[in-house]
Amino acid sequence: MTTSGATRTSSFVWRGCCRALAAIRQGGVGVAALLYPAECVHCGAPVAWDRVVCAPCAERLPRVASPACVQCGEPLASESLDLCLRCGTRVRSFERALALGPYEEGWRDLLHAFKFGREKAVGRWLARELCARFAAAGEDPVVCITHVPMTRSEERARGFNPSRFLARVAARQLQLPERRLLAKVRTTPPQRALSARERETNLSGAFRAIRSGKGAVLLVDDLLTTGATADECARTLKGAGFDRVTVLTVARA
Ligand SMILES: [Zn+2]
Ligand SMILES: [Zn+2]
Repeated sequence: MTTSGATRTSSFVWRGCCRALAAIRQGGVGVAALLYPAECVHCGAPVAWDRVVCAPCAERLPRVASPACVQCGEPLASESLDLCLRCGTRVRSFERALALGPYEEGWRDLLHAFKFGREKAVGRWLARELCARFAAAGEDPVVCITHVPMTRSEERARGFNPSRFLARVAARQLQLPERRLLAKVRTTPPQRALSARERETNLSGAFRAIRSGKGAVLLVDDLLTTGATADECARTLKGAGFDRVTVLTVARA
């Protein structure tokens, strides 16, 4: 074998080993703890195989500021206020929106790695953080977990629905049923690209309930911006009989 042939073969074997280890890691097999050299995505420090952020970096991730709107979590200028302008001046269909932190360096990098880099290990870690956030919030029990859907073409373009992935992992951890309750029936331009007036109608009729039910629902999404998507999904869920919707997202912009 020539030198370049040997190099190609050893590179192939190395890639094969990496894939095998990644497969073990995906399956959550205990032996991976010994084999897989996991590193913190921020600083490169070694971490346990099922973590993607080391404890000091996790500690430094920014949290939602206080005081904040009791309904949507938007930071407020004064302790004397309970609600932000948006929640105070219009009816929101969701009862409460919880997020891990602001959409800034830290959470933004993790979300990018998960959504665009398809780093599923990051997604699993984010889902576990979402479960901890939900448990700490002391919300009423929910009957199931659902997610903000994408249209088929949006999901094909992305390769997967990050919100559904988070909802599935969170449901397993919280031992709750994960239900597909909504479908997105038309593609909508991103809210941030629109004027205030266009945003009002952009999402109208974009979602449809595919199942009815009763009780409280936990609606998972990756990012809360104006809250209009969460609001429209919650409105659709309530039209299908559910009586309370808590929104749980990784970040809020
Ligand atoms: Zn670190
Ligand atoms: Zn608010």
